[in-house]
Amino acid sequence: MILKGKSAIVTGSTSGIGLGIARRMAAAGADVMLNGSRQPAEAEKLLNEIKAETGARLAYCSADMTKEADRGRLVDETVRAFGKVDVLINNAGIQYVSKVAEFPLDKWNEVLEVNLSSIFDLTRRVLPGMKDRKWGRIINIASVHGLIGSTKKSAYTAAKHGLIGFSKVVALEYCEHGITCNSICPGWVRTPLVEKQIEAIAKEKNIPYEEAVVDLLSEKQPSKQFVTTEQLGGLAVFLASDDAAQLTGVAIPVDGGWTAR
Ligand code: NAD
Repeated sequence: MILKGKSAIVTGSTSGIGLGIARRMAAAGADVMLNGSRQPAEAEKLLNEIKAETGARLAYCSADMTKEADRGRLVDETVRAFGKVDVLINNAGIQYVSKVAEFPLDKWNEVLEVNLSSIFDLTRRVLPGMKDRKWGRIINIASVHGLIGSTKKSAYTAAKHGLIGFSKVVALEYCEHGITCNSICPGWVRTPLVEKQIEAIAKEKNIPYEEAVVDLLSEKQPSKQFVTTEQLGGLAVFLASDDAAQLTGVAIPVDGGWTAR
């Protein structure tokens, strides 16, 4: 229970990596505000499930990260529910795949808004409270695409590189106030975001789904295994703990060796 007494927001936490992180944060004793696009009844079911597993205090806010008013509401509702925001985990993210010349401008803007600009906005909203309390953790879920590029992912790669740069500046500006800011850079994790890409490979190459999985992993991830949401949750808990107080401004790859090559 190393996060007992701490409160955390995890954006995009009703599926995939965010949900894995929210579960691990709750298991470590934190109060957790979940966020995503689920209907209230569905979200309620999920909260009850995690509460039963962990006994943690949980709440849910359906804020849309593309809307400024919703981002403000997410922070306000967390403060109302738990009194403060100690840990902000910026996880919500989207992908769009196309070569540069054909990349639709509206998709470019949407990827940049969700994966980068909304994170600037949420971060600036929670920093003053963290500074007053002399304790805070900002954890940004970037990607290996924050460190290297891949074809057809220009907006995503630009946003994730930008996110790592932004994290370094937050780290430098707030390191004397007990606040750290770091990026986690996952390789392939089997989530709805990646399932869509596997389906696209299967269709493009006219191969069965499980063959497309092998194809996807073999191309980039030397371990040939998916990173799990539990592993990423464990790292997020460590970054939020007091043991990580001097770990700031870094981008940590969790990618089965992808970026080691
Ligand atoms: P996912 O599609 O399962 O989850 C994304 C979450 O973001 C969902 O809960 C969704 O509701 C939420 N979201 C999307 N748009 C939103 C919006 N406008 N407002 C609020 N919430 C919104 O995907 P995932 O794979 O779990 O991705 C989570 C994060 O991890 C993303 O930032 C992604 O870029 C990053 N990531 C994923 C992988 C991977 O292999 N899956 C690898 C590296 C990085």
